[in-house]
Amino acid sequence: MKLRILDYLKDVKEYNGVALSAKFQCTCGSNKFEFSHTGKQTKGILSPFIIKKKGQLVLKATCPNCRSSFIVYDSTKDGSNISDKSSSYEFMPFTSKSLPNNLSVVIKYNYFPEKFKTGEFYSNEFENCFIYIIDENGKEGKALIEE
Ligand SMILES: [Zn+2]
Repeated sequence: MKLRILDYLKDVKEYNGVALSAKFQCTCGSNKFEFSHTGKQTKGILSPFIIKKKGQLVLKATCPNCRSSFIVYDSTKDGSNISDKSSSYEFMPFTSKSLPNNLSVVIKYNYFPEKFKTGEFYSNEFENCFIYIIDENGKEGKALIEE
């Protein structure tokens, strides 16, 4: 299976055939998104803002411009260490007093070399998925998820 969100990645950089990083961009051209999730929100101080709840996490991004949305990460389907401990998902909007509602992010994946690609595409069998919020100065800031 090819990487779930390939169509929404921009400025993809590869690292030694074992990792990649990219920014999100909607098909309408917007690069800011609202996020909602089925996990647990934290204050984001010593942990990512969103962590698993009951062993599961699904993260969804919605474009505020065209309202299209896509699943960014789903612990029941993505990665090589798939876990499914929940039968029903209820999405909660992600909001934080310290952050704007619409966020630009960078996403990073680590792979074992043999799982990096499936055919010509990056595969969905990654080992880790990290998402960091890009701050107003264009720098990578706090973690949204680190799975
Ligand atoms: Zn859009």
